Amino acid sequence: MSHQLPDFKTNLSDWFNEVVLKAELADYAPVKGCMVIRPYGYALWENIQKFMDVLIKKHGVDNAYFPLFIPMSFFEKEKEHIAGFAPELALVTIGGGKELPEKLAVRPTSETIMYHMYQKWFGSWRDLPVRINQWCNMVRWEKRTYLFLRTSEFLWQEGHCAHLTHEESIAEVEWAIKMYAQTYQELFGMYGIIGAKSDTEKFAGGAKSYTFEALMPNGKSLQACTSHDLGQNFAKSIDWTVQDQKGNKSFPWQNSWGFSTRSIGGLIMSHGDQKGLVMPPNIAPIQIIIIPIPGHNTALSKSQELLKLLENYRVKIDSKEGETAGAKFNKWELKGVPLRIEIGNRDVTAGTVIICRRDTGEKITVKFDNLSKTVAKLLNEIQQSLFDKHKKFTESNTFKADSYDEFKKIMETSRGFISAHWCETADCEAQIKTDTKATTRCLPLDAVEENGKCVRCGKPSPHRWLFGLSY
Ligand SMILES: [Zn+2]
Repeated sequence: MSHQLPDFKTNLSDWFNEVVLKAELADYAPVKGCMVIRPYGYALWENIQKFMDVLIKKHGVDNAYFPLFIPMSFFEKEKEHIAGFAPELALVTIGGGKELPEKLAVRPTSETIMYHMYQKWFGSWRDLPVRINQWCNMVRWEKRTYLFLRTSEFLWQEGHCAHLTHEESIAEVEWAIKMYAQTYQELFGMYGIIGAKSDTEKFAGGAKSYTFEALMPNGKSLQACTSHDLGQNFAKSIDWTVQDQKGNKSFPWQNSWGFSTRSIGGLIMSHGDQKGLVMPPNIAPIQIIIIPIPGHNTALSKSQELLKLLENYRVKIDSKEGETAGAKFNKWELKGVPLRIEIGNRDVTAGTVIICRRDTGEKITVKFDNLSKTVAKLLNEIQQSLFDKHKKFTESNTFKADSYDEFKKIMETSRGFISAHWCETADCEAQIKTDTKATTRCLPLDAVEENGKCVRCGKPSPHRWLFGLSY
């Protein structure tokens, strides 16, 4: 029995919706735009939290929790910020049966409420740097639902730091985006490009934004997380000053950075195939599934022995009754478990098991004695191989375009990342989007200086930007 998913290559978006539902990662909630993250999907988020929380704390950032409700007047203080978020705000107007004196926004991001408290708590250069992170939910009203990728409520972490100097703050903005890239590489097995956002694409109210852009199999680009230099904009909007070493009042330099459950959408698409999910071992909720062949009387007790032997891994036995071995294989392939161990009576007698790799389908016969060592080696290999494959895919789908015709042709055919010169004016950026649907994704951090001409208007441009069709 196959799960018959829509075609991965030609119909990624339907494939995605069905695989999320069938693999029991998430489901649509009764409220339009919201999703239920099911245990198998939530385990991914927990693994992300475990991995990233260590890196965040190692950097000196503490976790805290700030309220879900934010007074509307807080948003109105920073003009660009409110303009950027107004269309997505959910507002509470009634509380306890009475109309509230002031509308409350359900947090779309926490800059305003956190900095309000920072102003109350920190007034001297001795209090800086301030480094606080929170793991929480967010609400940004969406008209169309796309599980994990676009939902009105989602989970994330948001770090909010303040420094005495701009240099220190910028260093932290860069640290954050690199920490995210490390998470994508080591945990998600995903490759991507770090770079700066254009002025039109940057965070509303910020000075400069960095992004990690990952290329999906359909040639679309996913903004997979961001990190923002907020300059002194927010401090100025609430008149938060600290006394510096000379006794003068100065506005702190701030930054914020966030990583959300949207990343799981990227994970699903980056590695999936026609059979379903392919989980990189480091993030996989279940790394190994042991399947005793149904009806084989010695297989189950041997499976329990193996389970104990592999207790350092995330491992489960599927001894559910009423399913054939084939149905079980399909089920766990759909869920993307990196290694499947099959064991029948004949294997027990021979002292061996069959291990099957989800990513390549390769089957290997292994002796019990070598099992633990082989599993460790295979899990490492799969993790690395998935990353290498995603990197290779991204590189072979990154194209240089030196004329507008070339640019348009790429967008009409293969899509992917387009590396092209742009004059950095909002006019050309908007026209390129109208003509081709491509938006500026980022100016890669490692972009080299190069005398070029804007693909659209021909004016001088010092480096190539990355363009693509955005998710
Ligand atoms: Zn131009």
